[in-house]
Amino acid sequence: MPELPEVEVIRRGLAPLLVGRRFLAVQVGDKRLRQQSSPQELRRWVPGRRLDNLRRRGKYLLFDLEGGVTLLIHLGMTGRLLAGPPLSPPLPHVHLVFQMDGGLDLVFQDIRRFGQALVFPPGVAPPPLARVGAEPFSRKVTPAWLAEQARGRSRPIKNFLLDARILAGIGNIYACEILLAAGLHPATPAARLTLEDWGRVLAETRRILKLAIKKGGTTVANYLNSKGEAGLFQLELLAYGRANEPCRCGATIHRLVQAGRSTFFCPVCQPRRD
Ligand SMILES: [Zn+2]
Repeated sequence: MPELPEVEVIRRGLAPLLVGRRFLAVQVGDKRLRQQSSPQELRRWVPGRRLDNLRRRGKYLLFDLEGGVTLLIHLGMTGRLLAGPPLSPPLPHVHLVFQMDGGLDLVFQDIRRFGQALVFPPGVAPPPLARVGAEPFSRKVTPAWLAEQARGRSRPIKNFLLDARILAGIGNIYACEILLAAGLHPATPAARLTLEDWGRVLAETRRILKLAIKKGGTTVANYLNSKGEAGLFQLELLAYGRANEPCRCGATIHRLVQAGRSTFFCPVCQPRRD
């Protein structure tokens, strides 16, 4: 599933190609995404408008259209956004094709259809954004702010990092990498972290996300960037997916299940606290 760096890489790949172009038409496929505006709504609000800006909030891509219309796209598990000349024959599993001026198509392909494509008229704030927490790079996020968010919470730091209502855009892969780099056992109750711990968590979060963006996003499963490339600049993962392989310290990476999801950690670099 794409996380913040992958979505940011897609945004950076698409923005120079698309911003300033006008949407001409929308083709809607037969099968709907998990959340998708009706063909009528898409055709009412999108064609004829210029794309003024392409922003990211958490894992959402926000297309700011002329006149205050917002097109919100979430890639779900397997969604891809591809921009280029019209493809013939068309790709399989394509749900939406936005035809743009200059002979360019923006294609939303999603095999598993967990993605979202919703259009909002002028003046309507997209409701999904109300649940998106702080951007990890925002100034308001400080060690003290994180400690405040964690106060009184007994849940593990791993689950705290995955909570998109607190920090936006961090998924399972980066949560594992951040905790290994910060030397924190994933089961440590979030409320037990010291300010110094939060300082390390925040510094490692920003360092790892930045590195992943620079490297073009981490490639997993069906994730491809906007050019359809996969695996060209893969970030080296030190914890995620490496159960029974050696950590950099020489110990063996362990796997445990937290809230139904695999956590990978090193028992030496990330000692359990009692
Ligand atoms: Zn280790």
